[in-house]
Amino acid sequence: MKRTTRDHFRVQVTGTLHPQRLGDFGGIKMSDSFVSSDIAGDYQRRCEEMVKVLAKAYPDLKAEVVCDSREECTHCGCEWEVWTAEDAARWPEDESSVVGEPVCCEEAQTEFYAAKAVQA
Ligand SMILES: [Zn+2]
Repeated sequence: MKRTTRDHFRVQVTGTLHPQRLGDFGGIKMSDSFVSSDIAGDYQRRCEEMVKVLAKAYPDLKAEVVCDSREECTHCGCEWEVWTAEDAARWPEDESSVVGEPVCCEEAQTEFYAAKAVQA
């Protein structure tokens, strides 16, 4: 399955301000996963708070929350890539691959063909 992850939330001003780590309690630092069940959401909220504070302190400043997002496979965690028509044209000898088929791992391919079988 394809999953979209959002990562590296930050506030874009003229430069970039990074939120304090979720697990940073001053003297004690913990892994984010210990203190949050919604790491992306918590970082987003933390960034939105920074934007609010900045907007109040500097009304002329343009600040916005930005993040990186990437699509990855829920099975292997690799970047989501599929066999495309361009790939098929480039490697015509690979007749077993179907356009749209995930290329990362066997589990994703099995799932792809199972979904196709249901549709057919
Ligand atoms: Zn995979």
